[in-house]
Amino acid sequence: MHQATLTQVRDKLRKKEISSVELTKAFFKRIEAVDSKVGAYLHLIEDEALEQAKSADRKIKSGEDAPLLGVPLAIKDLICMQGVKTTCASRILENFVAPYDATVMKKLKEAGAVILGKVNMDEFAMGSSNENSAFHLARNPWNFDHVAGGSSGGSAAAVAAQECVASLGSDTGGSIRQPAAFCGVTGLKPTYGRVSRFGLVAFASSLDQIGPITRTVEDSALMLNVISGHDPMDSTSAEVEVPDFVGGLERDLKGLTVGIPKEYFADGLDAEVEKAVRAGIQQLQSLGMKTVEVSLPHTEHAVATYYILACAEASTNLSRYDGVRFGNRSEESDSLFNMYTNTREEGFGEEVKRRILLGTFVLSSGYYDAYYLKGQKVRTLIKQDFDRAFEVCDVIAGPVSPVPAFKIGEKMEDPLQMYLSDIYTISANLAGLPGLSIPCGQSSGKLPIGLQLLAKTFDEATLLAVGHGYQQATDHHTRFPEL
Ligand code: GLN
Repeated sequence: MHQATLTQVRDKLRKKEISSVELTKAFFKRIEAVDSKVGAYLHLIEDEALEQAKSADRKIKSGEDAPLLGVPLAIKDLICMQGVKTTCASRILENFVAPYDATVMKKLKEAGAVILGKVNMDEFAMGSSNENSAFHLARNPWNFDHVAGGSSGGSAAAVAAQECVASLGSDTGGSIRQPAAFCGVTGLKPTYGRVSRFGLVAFASSLDQIGPITRTVEDSALMLNVISGHDPMDSTSAEVEVPDFVGGLERDLKGLTVGIPKEYFADGLDAEVEKAVRAGIQQLQSLGMKTVEVSLPHTEHAVATYYILACAEASTNLSRYDGVRFGNRSEESDSLFNMYTNTREEGFGEEVKRRILLGTFVLSSGYYDAYYLKGQKVRTLIKQDFDRAFEVCDVIAGPVSPVPAFKIGEKMEDPLQMYLSDIYTISANLAGLPGLSIPCGQSSGKLPIGLQLLAKTFDEATLLAVGHGYQQATDHHTRFPEL
C-alpha cells in the first residue's frame, strides 16, 4: 500500500479492505525504516494521526464518506496546524506552535485526512535544493548524493520515498514543481488566488501559492478539489467557481494546442532533459494535440525580476520576527535594539539574511524606482508574453528545470547559479498562472526528469486533463526509487 495512489488508497479504505489505523501505522513504520536516510520529515505527529485514523475508521464503518477519509498525508512545515510546531525549517521558529489551523488544514481535516507530520523545506521556502533547512538535509530518494529540490524538498521526497500517500507544498517560484520533477512525482501549483493562503507563513505574498504533490495527476485533481475556493480570511483568494477537477479529467484532448516556447529550449538546457521533454511533447501530439511554437521574449529577465520582487516582499514579511511577537528571542541583549538584531542574527540562516538585505536594498529610498518599480513593470511584460502566447494555444509545455537533481553542495557556494536554475518555473508565479510538473523520463544517471505544463489563469481543468491524458498513455509516474 506504500506505493498505492491516493485514489487507490481511498477505494481500499471505502471497501474496508484496509483500515486507516493499519495504513497509518504502516506509514510510520516506513518512515522509521527510511527517513533517517531521506530526511523528509521534520516532526511526526503520531498520536494525533492515530486518533484521526481511528475516527476515520469509525466514520467509514458508519457509512460516512469524505474525499480524503482516512488517507495519510504530509504537510510542508510552513502551513499552520493548530497545536503543532510550524518551524519553516528556521531556528527562529524552532519552538513556534501554531495557534490555529490554516484554511487548507481545516479543509483537509474536514475531508477526513490523517496528518502524519510536517515535512522539511528550505528555510522560509527560500531555496531550490532543501540545503537551506536549518535542521537537516532532505536527500533525493533516487540518489542520496543528490538534492531533493526545493523549497518543498521534504514534500516531494516523502511522496517519492513512499512515506505518505500525498503531501502539500507551496510554490513561490517553483517550489512545488521543481522538487516534484527532481523526485519523479507529480506537483501542481494552482493559479494565484485559487487556494487560500490563510495560515501559510508568508514568503512573497504576491507569488505564494499552496498546492499538492502526489503520485498522479488524478490525485492532484482530488487534492485540488478539497483545498480550492474563496476564503474570507484571505482577500487574495479569488471568488471564482471551483469546477470538479476529477470529473473533468477524461476530456478529449483532440483539437487542443500545445505551445512550445522557443526561449525554453535555448542555451543552458541539459541535453538529456531536452530529449525527455521533447519526447513528452511528442506523446501529447500522439494524443491528438497540435503544437505551435510560441515566444516568451521576456524570459531572460524573469530571474532578475523574481529575485527583486520576491526579496522585497520577503524583507517586509520577515520583519515580524523581532523576538517580541513570534518565535525565539535572543537571551543576551543589553538593549531593545540589540535584542532585535541579536535575535535576527541568531535566528536566520545565511540565505534568509541575504534576501532580507537584497529586499531592503531594492525597496530603499533612491533605489525603489530603479529596482522594485522596474521589476513590477517587467513583471507586467512577462504576464503579457503569456497573454499573447495563450491566444494561439491552450497549454504551454517545456522543462521544469534545466538540469536533473544536482549534487548536494554543487550550487551552495554560488547563489547566482542556484537562482538561475529557477529560470523555467518563476515566470508562472510572476504571471499568476497554474503549472503542473509530471515525470517524463530519466537521465542516464537514473534521476527523474519533469515535464512542465502551464495554462491560463484558473484553467487548471485543462492543465489536469492534459497531464492525466499523458499519464494514461505513459508509465514514468509509476516508477519508484529503491531504498
Ligand atoms: N527557488 C526559488 C527561491 O529560492 C523558489 C522558492 C519557492 O518557490 N518557494 O526563491
